[in-house]
Amino acid sequence: MITCREITCREFIEFLSAYLAGELSPASQAEFDFHLSDCPDCALYLQSYEDTIRLGKEALTDLDAPVPAEVPAELVQGILATWRREHRTPP
Ligand SMILES: [Zn+2]
Repeated sequence: MITCREITCREFIEFLSAYLAGELSPASQAEFDFHLSDCPDCALYLQSYEDTIRLGKEALTDLDAPVPAEVPAELVQGILATWRREHRTPP
C-alpha cells in the first residue's frame, strides 16, 4: 500500500512555481493538493501568489504603465487582515 507522504509548508512554497506550471509528477501534484486542502496558510499564500502574477501580467499589457517592482505591503497586509477576519472562529 502506498501512503501519501505529507509535504511541509516549506516544500510547498519551494515547489509552488513548478506546481503552477504543471511540472510536478501526478504523485507530487496530489501531495500538493492534499496539503493545500489541509493548510489555510498555504492556500492563502497560493492565492496571493496567483494575484501577484495576475497583477504583473495586467501591468505588462499596458506598456506605458510603470511595472510594480513588488506587491505593495499595504495590499499584502489587507489580504491577510481580511483572511484573518473571515477565518476567525468565534469563542
Ligand atoms: Zn502549508
